[in-house]
Amino acid sequence: MKTIKVSVVTPDGPVYESDVEMVSTKAKSGELGILPGHIPMVAPLAIGTVRLKKEGNTELVAVTGGFLEVRPDKVTVLAQAAELGSEIDVTRAEEAKKRAEQRLQTNDSSTDLRRAELALQRALNRLKVTGRI
Ligand code: ATP
Repeated sequence: MKTIKVSVVTPDGPVYESDVEMVSTKAKSGELGILPGHIPMVAPLAIGTVRLKKEGNTELVAVTGGFLEVRPDKVTVLAQAAELGSEIDVTRAEEAKKRAEQRLQTNDSSTDLRRAELALQRALNRLKVTGRI
């Protein structure tokens, strides 16, 4: 089986590095599936999940925006934040979800709705990666 190198890096350091069979994720332009030999490209990422297929298993990484750079032999994900499912603190994500939902419900002019909506998306994404929702 052909493989492609993938590394997921954040400002805090590397999160994941391996050779995988396929990388799939949601770019702002839509779903992307990257196999070895893919044409070079750069795409901005949405808040979402990067799926890494390796030896019949799929590992999930929650990513919070950033960029995906593809070269024929290597995929680099540069994300603002990225966590493997095993690294996610479920209680923290549930609390972040609750806070964001409360902010979205309080309809006062001092609430930054866009910011609350993004915080909710990050929390839901993390819970999804841990299989909680
Ligand atoms: P919170 O309100 O709980 O801080 P957030 O969505 O605002 O959540 P971010 O700004 O996206 O957090 O991330 C800040 C740092 O904390 C990043 O390094 C990220 O990987 C880490 N992080 C955030 N939430 C979690 C979580 N539930 N489990 C593990 N690490 C987390």
